[in-house]
Amino acid sequence: MNDNHASTDTEVDRNVSPAKALFYGDIVKSLFWPFPETNPENEEMLQMVLESVDRFLEGRDDDFRQWDEDGAQPGDFIESLRELGLFGLIIPEEYGGIGLSNAAYSRVLQQCSRYDSSVSLTIGAHSSIGMKGVLLFGTDAQKETYLPKLASGEMIAAFCLTEAGSGSDAASIKANAVRKPGGGWILNGEKLWITNGGIANFYTVFARTDGDTGKLSAFIVERDYPGVTSGPKEDKLGIRASSTTTVNFADVELPEDSLLGPEGKGFMIAMAILNNGRTGLGGGSVGGMKTCIELAAKQAKERKQFGQSIADFGMIKQKISDMTVDCFAAESVVRMVGHYIDSGHSDYSVEAAISKVFASEAMNRAANESLQIAAGNGYMKEFPYERIMRDARILTIFEGTSEILRLFIALSGMKGPGTLLRDLQSATEDIFNSPIKGFGLLSDYAGRKITQVTSLGNERIVGAVSEDLRDDALIFEKYSLELARMTDVLLRRHGKSIANRQFALKRAADVVIDLFVGLSVLSRVSSMEADESEQYQQAAAIAHLFSQKAKRRMNQNLRAMLRNEDESAKSLADHVFEAERYPWDVL
Ligand SMILES: Cc1cc2nc3c(=O)[nH]c(=O)nc-3n(C[C@H](O)[C@H](O)[C@H](O)COP(=O)(O)OP(=O)(O)OC[C@H]3O[C@@H](n4cnc5c(N)ncnc54)[C@H](O)[C@@H]3O)c2cc1C
Repeated sequence: MNDNHASTDTEVDRNVSPAKALFYGDIVKSLFWPFPETNPENEEMLQMVLESVDRFLEGRDDDFRQWDEDGAQPGDFIESLRELGLFGLIIPEEYGGIGLSNAAYSRVLQQCSRYDSSVSLTIGAHSSIGMKGVLLFGTDAQKETYLPKLASGEMIAAFCLTEAGSGSDAASIKANAVRKPGGGWILNGEKLWITNGGIANFYTVFARTDGDTGKLSAFIVERDYPGVTSGPKEDKLGIRASSTTTVNFADVELPEDSLLGPEGKGFMIAMAILNNGRTGLGGGSVGGMKTCIELAAKQAKERKQFGQSIADFGMIKQKISDMTVDCFAAESVVRMVGHYIDSGHSDYSVEAAISKVFASEAMNRAANESLQIAAGNGYMKEFPYERIMRDARILTIFEGTSEILRLFIALSGMKGPGTLLRDLQSATEDIFNSPIKGFGLLSDYAGRKITQVTSLGNERIVGAVSEDLRDDALIFEKYSLELARMTDVLLRRHGKSIANRQFALKRAADVVIDLFVGLSVLSRVSSMEADESEQYQQAAAIAHLFSQKAKRRMNQNLRAMLRNEDESAKSLADHVFEAERYPWDVL
């Protein structure tokens, strides 16, 4: 064990990132076991909220379909969300909110998403990102001013980062806030595709302070301030009933105390909000998957072809099995990350990114496969499948695309081993400190030799699982060491160009995603009573199915580190970029 991430079964080190430790070959057992249980303090309240969500949303499919067509939720529906307290889910009770934990909040969004993603998003954009900055970085005065109104829904919040020229490259925003001589700021800029943009009256806005080269700062901006306007609703593929608009700031005068968190720390604040909010989106993905499974299972049993139910066909069973394994895995990893946040872990950014990538991609697979099972019916607007599929598509795009998050996962994970490789230390610092910001910033250290191997030994987890999960545990023990070796190979081989070696970084990210998700699954199944019950036996089968598939994927990714066709693929893409079309038409 490396001292940096030492821990014992009983004494959890809250400064250790279990996903980053995997890049050293370490499975920090106490950070996976035991699988987190629902906090009893939250349980009763959570149950009540879930029941009221069910009562409110159940049987409203026709409404959701209509609002999807209209591209908006009606005002009286938003009013009902307010009355139900759904804007105050994570706001402490002292400010009039419900005070749910991160995990419980994620569970509520899961329940909403079982019915409709746009509903989930209206609530989620408010809590997960729109007002989260006040909770995480607000002064006492800011909390007292805003949290009661945000809890009641008198104020609805939105998160304003993206601009026309600045999407994934969030650090390049142009909106600016200039200090006024007597105190306060003048804000100018336009934000693009802002969820809740048209219905919000509270905006967390990111802007450059002190000139074009200035750092970013975060501000609280009220819609009532002169110069704040929102554009018309965007006409979108999915989540159509959720409000998405531009938000414009023209010479908006901001009071001195509108600054949120320290001046110049806006990028860090934006990332902290997004990291903390990822379980909302993860929970939403899990809810959507549960609906897909329910719809697909019923449809497959009812639909008869070739004289039998299509549920009898192997290819249909395969789909249902895959969706179920995916859903269990996504639920496990989202729950694990919620637990890290709730128990005060300081470094969960990579784990949160893993949960977002896995859950959002799994939801897209589930939406696609459930539509495939319903086939022609699935394609028709009369049924919910096509809307679910359109709604799911955004999940891998906003709050960090899958590509950007994979880069973040791989580069953040390699930072530790990278700095251990002593000859590389100074050259790697910049890029690893800020992977999203700093691609291409590595200084020249070509030709230097890396002398240290990063594999530092592994904590055994086979003892933490029941006998029937032992082989599965061995897979994750083996491949965590393989990840450490691969990390070393990558750092040795690519030197300064590692940050631009995206084929390799994607493979590294995919291996650690499989490891972290798989360990969460194993932990969850081993927390169940290992008996002869069907419930346990099928859960153990899920762990086994996930482990075996993960093993094949990890094996393939690791092998491809050494032998691959990356150069051919790059060259082909460049050829197509040059032609700007497919160049092999035949008559
Ligand atoms: C419906 C909707 C709601 C939204 N809500 C909000 C909101 O509430 N607040 C807000 O601030 N923003 C919001 N956004 C913006 C969203 O976060 C961005 O769309 C997202 O960050 C991606 O930015 P982009 O669309 O400009 O894509 P780009 O950054 O232009 O990326 C285009 C493609 O290139 C890839 N790419 C980019 N850089 C790299 C790289 N270095 N390496 C490899 N691949 C790369 C991306 O993964 C993507 O596939 C919303 C967007 C939509 C569509």
